Amino acid sequence: MREHGPGEPGADSGGSATRSPARAGRERGAVRGAWDYVIVGGGSAGSALAARLTEDGSTNVLVLEAGRPDSWWDLYIHMPAALSFPIGSRYYDWKYESEPEPFMNGRRIYHARGKVLGGSSSINGMIFQRGNPLDYERWAREGGLEDWDYAHCLPYFKRMETCVAGADEWRGGDGPLVLERGPAEGPLFGAFFDAVQEAGHPLTDDVNGFRQEGFARFDRNIKRGRRWSAARAYLHPAMSRPNLEVRTRAFVERIVFDGARAIGVQVNGQTIRAGEVILCGGAINSPQLLQLSGVGEIHHLESLGIPVISDLPVGENLQDHLEVYVQCASKQPVTVAPAYKWRNRPLVGLKWLLFKSGPGATNHFEAGGFIRSNDDVAYPNVMFHFLPIAVRYDGTAPQGHGYQLHVGPMYSDARGSVKITSTDPRVHPALQFNYLSTEQDRREWIECVRAARAILHAPAFEPFNAGELSPGAGVETDEEILEWVRRDAETALHPSCTCAMGSVVDPSTMRVYGVDGLRVVDASVFPFVTNGNIYAPVMMVAEKAADLIRGNTPLPPSDAEFYVHGVEATSH
Ligand SMILES: Cc1cc2nc3c(=O)[nH]c(=O)nc-3n(C[C@H](O)[C@H](O)[C@H](O)COP(=O)(O)OP(=O)(O)OC[C@H]3O[C@@H](n4cnc5c(N)ncnc54)[C@H](O)[C@@H]3O)c2cc1C
Repeated sequence: MREHGPGEPGADSGGSATRSPARAGRERGAVRGAWDYVIVGGGSAGSALAARLTEDGSTNVLVLEAGRPDSWWDLYIHMPAALSFPIGSRYYDWKYESEPEPFMNGRRIYHARGKVLGGSSSINGMIFQRGNPLDYERWAREGGLEDWDYAHCLPYFKRMETCVAGADEWRGGDGPLVLERGPAEGPLFGAFFDAVQEAGHPLTDDVNGFRQEGFARFDRNIKRGRRWSAARAYLHPAMSRPNLEVRTRAFVERIVFDGARAIGVQVNGQTIRAGEVILCGGAINSPQLLQLSGVGEIHHLESLGIPVISDLPVGENLQDHLEVYVQCASKQPVTVAPAYKWRNRPLVGLKWLLFKSGPGATNHFEAGGFIRSNDDVAYPNVMFHFLPIAVRYDGTAPQGHGYQLHVGPMYSDARGSVKITSTDPRVHPALQFNYLSTEQDRREWIECVRAARAILHAPAFEPFNAGELSPGAGVETDEEILEWVRRDAETALHPSCTCAMGSVVDPSTMRVYGVDGLRVVDASVFPFVTNGNIYAPVMMVAEKAADLIRGNTPLPPSDAEFYVHGVEATSH
């Protein structure tokens, strides 16, 4: 336990304790005012890390979360179908916007990020995708990341989950993250699974199991009809521990250094001291905080008059996924559109409140799949989500009875950056993604849209297909498709890789190079974005990082085989 005078300025400053038992326990016990670790951000990774680190009763942890608590009565968080409501609301969302994107007609792309306990896991789409095993083989080819291959990551994926569909060699059976499989029932899902096969794609049992490639029902972070966020799965069960305190509405402004050693953080202008600081603020906030505090690229920091403590490519290597919705009108009234009508919402809400069932209890992302859109790629580079409704992700522009595929490239080689433009921590950093900036990206976009159309216009959809709503007739040639993507595409909300392991963070300790007492554990440490939604990989990183930080013997590597196209089975 490190020294920390309770009377020091700021020792108890900033934020409010969300649950009294932990605070009471801490004040009762001998640990008052002393933190071994301060975790910045009670989001996805932060929740898992706080829970794992405080399993050791002698380790004292303070979590500082800028957003509000995820109160039990908050329907917008806990009712799965309400997922679009927090987006754009300052009560839940950091509300970022990219710089004008040079390859998208100068459009600014809106970026939601969770600003509430549970972070983005409290406002996300609840889709659970581990990524392809070959994603981790790719990570492991980077210098120093040998222990981040699939064999070493799989045991942590298993440790963190309870797969309700069943545990096996690949899936976990008793972890905190409960995963229910989407039912994907009804005529439209039936047509969808037939249509993908007519378009030449296989089905697979479980995209998170032996074989990702193919189409299947999807797992989601829902437990008995409620969103099962990282905060609910990890943090709340740990909050009664006397060695954990969680403060919400506690915005961390800077990391405080003594020379090259991080000794705490600044909240409301006052210092909270800690033995170590662990940044879990996500792929935008973690690099922002590092740059504000003197850890970043030397010329960039000097241009803002920030004294440089460690010259590192912080904020570079930004990666993300972009997506579009290919939509069709439905001849038959078999979609879930009525549930979205204002007049039906009270009934949907009531059914959910009373029974945790009905249209309110689903995220609607119940099925989808992964394909390789060309022969150059070794594993799937395109992901699809099928929805039995035509609507934009943020809930706007519902199109009557319709259905849609979300689609986009998963293996884009476009790279961007997160850069502060001010020394004021409340000024959002400049986000530049450079979507569509590469030849490969543009080619794969054309492949994506054509592959989605092949599925939606397959014979199985004939009884339903009343014509394409979007992009619609008039978007046929490669150039027309690209122009539509430039106009219409949105982020799939997977910013990552801005404090990458190997270049900013040591993959064996999660420590930031060139300084002491400072680590990063969140989506920013990925070296490459994985080929699906990224919440599950973030949680795996947090689980594995917890063992590295605690000095535990790592879980033994798995020898489970996995599917590789053109190879019978690949074993470690
Ligand atoms: C709307 C939306 C939908 C998504 N849908 C899906 C999906 O369906 N499936 C999927 O796999 N992924 C999805 N994602 C992505 C996924 O949820 C995130 O990539 C992942 O949760 C990020 O985890 P993290 O720990 O890196 O950051 P976060 O979970 O965002 O946590 C960061 C936390 O740090 C806090 N914080 C930041 N800065 C400070 C500061 N200075 N001081 C104090 N606290 C701070 C934030 O408020 C936040 O709580 C979605 C994301 C969004 C936003």
